[in-house]
Amino acid sequence: MQQKKGVAILGSTGSIGTQALEVIEAYPDFFDLQVITAQSNAQLLIEQAKKFQPNAVVIVDDTLYSTVKEALSSEDIHVYAGKEALCQVVEFNEVHVVLTALVGYAGLKPTLAAIDAGKDIALANKETLVVAGEIVTQRAREKGINIYPVDSEHSAIFQCLVGEFHNPIEKIYLTASGGPFRGWTTQQLETVTKAQALKHPNWTMGAKITIDSASLMNKGLEVIEAKWLFNLKPEQIDVIVHPQSIVHSLVQFTDGSMKAQMGLPDMKLPIQFALTYPDRFTTDFPRFNFMDYPQLTFEQADRTTFRNLDLAYEAMNRGGTAACALNASNEIAVQLFLEEKIGFLDIARTNEWVMNEASFIQKPSYEDYVAIDAMSREIAFTKHS
Ligand code: NAD
Ligand code: MG
Repeated sequence: MQQKKGVAILGSTGSIGTQALEVIEAYPDFFDLQVITAQSNAQLLIEQAKKFQPNAVVIVDDTLYSTVKEALSSEDIHVYAGKEALCQVVEFNEVHVVLTALVGYAGLKPTLAAIDAGKDIALANKETLVVAGEIVTQRAREKGINIYPVDSEHSAIFQCLVGEFHNPIEKIYLTASGGPFRGWTTQQLETVTKAQALKHPNWTMGAKITIDSASLMNKGLEVIEAKWLFNLKPEQIDVIVHPQSIVHSLVQFTDGSMKAQMGLPDMKLPIQFALTYPDRFTTDFPRFNFMDYPQLTFEQADRTTFRNLDLAYEAMNRGGTAACALNASNEIAVQLFLEEKIGFLDIARTNEWVMNEASFIQKPSYEDYVAIDAMSREIAFTKHS
């Protein structure tokens, strides 16, 4: 029998993580869950560990170590705590692929550790490529490992490229739902509440990416993610708003032909494809029905009202540490918005401010990214304290 695929899920208690566990549960002969991790949701982590019997779990918040350790004391499961442990568990021999389903800059170090250990990456944690795409993709090339996209748009592009890897791409179109505030004016956005921003029309996701989707920062981050995943120039990447979220993205080839990947919005499909590529496994997910969507529509993004998209293009054009600064600022601004300390439009204002104030390094080392990330967080905080 073929060896099972050993999987580590960083961030198993989140939106992507829990859906990934559903995928793994559906194919017990194919997957072997080795590692699961969580920041602070100890109860769900314990529950998942009891059910799936992984080799190891990590609770990043080390004040919860004894809670998890005691709850799993009668199980044959190793329990670790602290963020450094994330970098160690991805190195286990039995792990073949690491699904990065944790949120934010925190994903960078464990992703690099996994690559250095020769593990394939199923990448949901787009912030890692936004912050340090150059180092991450270069190390992956050197190690000969693959980075399989989990983000639905990038999975769509990847699916369109299967069988076309030798054919040059002319450009790609990333589709965007437009979020809950599509068509709103700056004046209307000034008084938007946290509850309104957390209501995404088509997807149920973690809080940070939901706010990013409402502010179009998510699409900006995805543009940079696409640059690194598919080795594209900024001018080869375009964004088109498609409110139904059925066409997940498109590739245009040099003969003018365009390929799109379509389906109902369900993250389990791109998660599964990232883990089973090049195969497609049969699912019973609901199928698309044309009569439910007699019209698929497309429109331009409103880049004047939603500044974050252009800020991302600007960061991508500047290169170096510009996107690292933008990401750090955005993580702080989103956190402050979720704590109801700043308004919705202050997110983009903060990001623009930090991008201009933070130091810039054109050819950064890993340590430079760490320093610029910390500095940018500080500048973002200071602006609002
Ligand atoms: P989430 O908030 O639902 O889950 C995040 C997970 O990461 C949790 O398990 C949490 O315990 C863990 N975590 C949080 N902070 C951490 C830290 N500092 N260190 C270690 N672990 C930490 O988030 P999500 O919506 O599942 O998103 C995860 C990633 O996937 C993000 O980068 C997001 O942009 C990307 N993504 C999500 C979706 C989606 O549909 N949810 C779609 C595309 C891409
Ligand atoms: Mg996406």
